Formats: sequence, C-alpha cells, structure tokens
Amino acid sequence: MVAIIQTGNPLARVYKKLWNKRVTLPAGTAPDVGVAGLTLGGGIGLLSRKYGLTCDNLKQVKVIVASGRFGARTIVANWRKHSDLWWASRGGGGGNFGVAIAYTFRVRPISMVSIYSINWKWGDLEKVLPAWQRWAPSVTCRLTSTIEVAAKQVGTIVSTGQLLGGAEELRRLIRPLLRTGTPVKVMVKTVPFIEATKFFAESDLNLEPKFKITGAYGFQPLPREGVRIIRDFLSEAPNRHSSVWSQSLGGAGSAVSRVSPTATAYPHRKAETIYELSARWRNNREQ
Ligand SMILES: Cc1cc2nc3c(=O)[nH]c(=O)nc-3n(C[C@H](O)[C@H](O)[C@H](O)COP(=O)(O)OP(=O)(O)OC[C@H]3O[C@@H](n4cnc5c(N)ncnc54)[C@H](O)[C@@H]3O)c2cc1C
Repeated sequence: MVAIIQTGNPLARVYKKLWNKRVTLPAGTAPDVGVAGLTLGGGIGLLSRKYGLTCDNLKQVKVIVASGRFGARTIVANWRKHSDLWWASRGGGGGNFGVAIAYTFRVRPISMVSIYSINWKWGDLEKVLPAWQRWAPSVTCRLTSTIEVAAKQVGTIVSTGQLLGGAEELRRLIRPLLRTGTPVKVMVKTVPFIEATKFFAESDLNLEPKFKITGAYGFQPLPREGVRIIRDFLSEAPNRHSSVWSQSLGGAGSAVSRVSPTATAYPHRKAETIYELSARWRNNREQ
C-alpha cells in the first residue's frame, strides 16, 4: 500500500491521517518537524529498525527543478525516471536539488504497540549506559529504545522504547535493563500506535532560548573512558538543561543496516546507535 503525502505536512498530521487508515510510515518523533526535510535527510525513528529509514520507504518524489533561462519544471523521480535525483533525495539533505512537493511512500499496517519507560538515579550512570549500549542493538529489530542521561542536577537516567508486540514479551525483553543498577520507576503497557507517537513526541518549544545541539553515530559501545567523559560533562553542567541522549538504530536484523551504504545518499548504515548531545542556557554566564 502507498500514501501520497504533500511535503508541507508536519509529522503529527502525517501520523494522524495515516492512523485513520491504520497504516503508518517509519519517521521521527517530533510532531512539528516537517516530513519534507526529515525524508530528504534520511528520517530516523522508533520503527526504523524494523521498517528502515523514512527515505527507504520513499518510492517516488515530485520535485520542482530549475529549468531553462528563468524557468522551472516539475519532474517525477523514482527508480526508473531521474533515478539519480531519487537516489539523492534519500539522505542527501534538504534544499539541494529542487523543491520537493509530494512524496509517494510505502506504508505499513499498524495497530497496537507496547511501550516502556525505566527510571534510574543518576548514580547508576556507569552501570546503566554501558548495559544499554550492549543490549539495545542486540534485541529484536521490533524493539527500538532510547536512553537519556540528564545533567546531574536533574539526577535521572531514563530509558524508553517501543515494541511491535505485546506487553508480556516487552517485559521479558527489558529484563537485562531491569537487572542493571536499581530502577526506581518502571512502566510497561500496550497502547494504540497513535498514543505511542504522543508518548515519544518531543519539541523544542518552551526550552531555554540558547542552545547547542550536536549529533553523532555510534558504531560500537563507548569505552569506559567515553562513559566517564559523559559523567564528568553532566556533573559540571551549569544548569539542568544539558543531556546526552541515544537511540538504537542498527544491530540485530535492523532494516537500516541491511541497505548498502551506497544504495541511497544516506551512508551511515552500519551505525548501531545515534547520539544527541545538548546544552541549553538562558544567559551567557551559564556557558
Ligand atoms: C525537535 C526536533 C526533533 C527532531 N527529531 C528527529 C527525529 O526523530 N528523526 C530524524 O530523523 N530527525 C529529527 N530531527 C531532524 C529533522 O529531521 C531535520 O531538522 C529536518 O531537516 C527537518 O525538516 P523540516 O522540513 O521540518 O525543516 P526545515 O527547516 O523547513 O528544512 C530543513 C532543510 O530541508 C530543506 N527543505 C524543506 N522543505 C523542503 C522541500 N519541500 N524541498 C526541498 N528541500 C526542502 C530546507 O531548505 C532546509 O535545508 C529533529 C529536529 C528537531 C528540531
């Protein structure tokens, strides 16, 4: 089954419209991020390990390209026509080759999913982060998980995840995490997929006005020294708004890793995890 989606749509609207037909697209978590830029850059989310990146599900793109002396024309790119543009539109980044106006995606049936969240105290960092890094890429590709270590002032470590499967199976799959450190709060439940998209929704709104965020790919678990650097950075953070976040992406049977690094313009196929390192502040004394 395919869906034709106009590129002006934010992800929340895409998920909702597709949910009305009980289908979905593997895509990102932020409700106000546009399907346009997300797809052109790759598109990572909680269904990527099972169904690939957003761009891996892109069958066709309609693009306005510069043409003639002052003109423009609309072309359709897919595996047969303008296949170089179709290749570049899958991971090559936004704003480079023309204005994408409509995407044709392969969509997947979806109904209920199971989600979890586990909280630990900050002192468990050196146990929990290495354990999560070994566990997350090794579990079934139907389960994608995240971990967020907040600044020491906040004092928490939180892991969340989504399974295409039932709560019983999820409880069994997260056992290695539950045996690590001392979890202080655990939640596991089965919910309609659209509720899960709201649970994982994140937004830049209402956060500190100044920020620096950078990302990285993880090809193997961090050595002990790397975990210590994260601990020291987050111990000394000048306010509560710094964190290190990671999400599983590759590993056991992941659909992302099965695609060749040259098959699309998105080359990071062998990464097991992604990281987001962020610091936010209100006044420059906090820098
Ligand atoms: C809060 C937040 C959460 C995020 N979460 C995720 C996530 O879960 N997964 C993930 O993969 N990424 C995530 N991202 C990154 C996001 O995918 C990229 O920032 C993406 O480029 C946003 O696309 P946009 O259309 O919303 O943005 P814009 O800022 O409008 O565009 C980004 C780039 O794409 C170009 N562009 C936009 N529309 C078109 C078009 N129609 N045709 C051609 N070029 C176009 C723009 O010129 C620009 O270069 C997140 C970003 C934020 C801010």
